[in-house]
Amino acid sequence: MGFNLTFHLSYKLRLLLLFTLCLTVVGWVTSSYFGDPTQESPKTKKFLAFFNKATVLEKEEMVTNRASVQKVELKNCPHLSPYLRGLSKLSFKPDLTLEEVQAENPNVDGGRYHPEKCRALQRVAILIPHRNREKHLLYLLEHLHPFLQRQQLEYGIYIIHQAGKKKFNRAKLLNVGYLEALKEENWDCFVFHDVDLLPENDHNLYRCEDQPKHLVVGRNSTGYRLRYKGYFGGVTALTREQFFKVNGFSNNYWGWGGEDDDLRLRVELQRMKILRPLPEVGKYTMIFHTRDRGNEVNIERMKLLHEVARVWKTDGLTSCSYKLLSVEHNPLYINITVDFWSDP
Ligand code: BGC
Repeated sequence: MGFNLTFHLSYKLRLLLLFTLCLTVVGWVTSSYFGDPTQESPKTKKFLAFFNKATVLEKEEMVTNRASVQKVELKNCPHLSPYLRGLSKLSFKPDLTLEEVQAENPNVDGGRYHPEKCRALQRVAILIPHRNREKHLLYLLEHLHPFLQRQQLEYGIYIIHQAGKKKFNRAKLLNVGYLEALKEENWDCFVFHDVDLLPENDHNLYRCEDQPKHLVVGRNSTGYRLRYKGYFGGVTALTREQFFKVNGFSNNYWGWGGEDDDLRLRVELQRMKILRPLPEVGKYTMIFHTRDRGNEVNIERMKLLHEVARVWKTDGLTSCSYKLLSVEHNPLYINITVDFWSDP
């Protein structure tokens, strides 16, 4: 019985020992395979590091892939658009309506357009000062939209309308246009455009260069000759930075004349040079009109021109005050209406 008990105990003890041994072996094997998440082995550490790096790389790759997909979809437009036609004779339909012009331009949305098949080289804001020239505006819109689209530009057309009874101030309206347009898009280039001038040759690119550009070499009404050597009126193109550098236009030219000469002096004071297209390219048709009421010749203009060097820093974009009455996004243009009621 004693023997039997000893045997029995030792048998149980042996079984227990065996069981404990098995547990230890299983525990050791599983722990070396799966590891303890809180105590990483060097191997696990290496793997985790690799995994993390791969994830980061993968994420980065996804981002660049997405960007390159976009780039593939939108390659830069060519320097010279294949859609240009050169010189064309303009015609004016007497009973043209805004609805017709809208129907001719289905791809223009809220006054803005961008090429669908390529990425435009520049984003251009066309600024047109306006008062009581609805018919001219209609012809300009009809002509300018397809003209700019053939140039494969991304653009927006802004009409800056002067309300109230004060004398017309073209330059100040253009300052307003620049400041307001920049609130909705960081435009690269600004084209300051009279409402009654239509470009005849679509090789006259509405893009900015490394120097300010004057696009009107000649107009039909003056035998297509440059009016005078320093003429800088009608249509000009300055980059966002060039216009900022000269502090924009002066705000002090009320009525007709002088403000464009003033801008030329500002440009020259900054040692910038004025570029022009070839005469054959810089041709414009001017829509005839008589002098508007409220835009009489400014007899002060010579006096003002003598002061440019002294006042340009304090008179311009930095001091342009105005009362913004409305900003409307019409199908073919953005209409900004302002009043200069508090000005002298
Ligand atoms: C005026 C300019 C105008 C030019 C051509 C000059 O006397 O000062 O503002 O653009 O004539 O008409």
